[in-house]
Amino acid sequence: MSKAIQRVTVYAASSQALSPDYINAARRLGKTLGEAKLAIMYGGGGHGLMGAVADSALAAGGEVHGVIPEFLTRVEAGHAGLTSLEVVDNMRTRKARMLEASDAVIALPGGCGTFEELFEAMTLKRLGQFLGPIILINTGGYYDLLLEFLKHSVDERFMNRTHLNMWQSVSEPEQILSALGTAPAWSAGAIAEAAVTGSSR
Ligand code: AMP
Repeated sequence: MSKAIQRVTVYAASSQALSPDYINAARRLGKTLGEAKLAIMYGGGGHGLMGAVADSALAAGGEVHGVIPEFLTRVEAGHAGLTSLEVVDNMRTRKARMLEASDAVIALPGGCGTFEELFEAMTLKRLGQFLGPIILINTGGYYDLLLEFLKHSVDERFMNRTHLNMWQSVSEPEQILSALGTAPAWSAGAIAEAAVTGSSR
């Protein structure tokens, strides 16, 4: 794997009502990252897939850093026992903090919060503002429809074909290290190809 990747941001569901398959995948991802000594940055929650990935990474000897907005600490405790837990003003600051300190983004299955974070990373990458790998953990094909829709967006020329290189997916969490190592290089020059130009079909 590329030496450059030392810290990854993990986006993941807060839901506590998920099938064990998803929880199992989150645990396996945490273990894989922890054993590889890749530090994790995440939303700081103790529930759902967020809690599962953090717990197993810590148990495997990894570093896990949480960033949680103050209002959420009033309705739920942040994960106790993290390497660090930063309390910030709001969701926007949290999202920026999670991304700015990271070399790559990993999305476990999740709901609208995970989608929003994932789409911001994709958008910044398209504009050459975030350059790291973006890997979806496609447990049980959860993200198949999203991946198909993104391809549809390219086919309909809302994005350029080169933008399909911005993200990759793996079906098993243990494939994450090789996915991070083989993700196509991306540069700040992406801004030159961000816009879709040319005639309509
Ligand atoms: P969702 O996929 O809709 O459950 O949202 C999860 C994502 O949004 C995580 O990656 C977090 O960064 C953020 N998030 C949403 N809800 C919470 C919560 N209750 N505690 C901590 N982070 C949350």
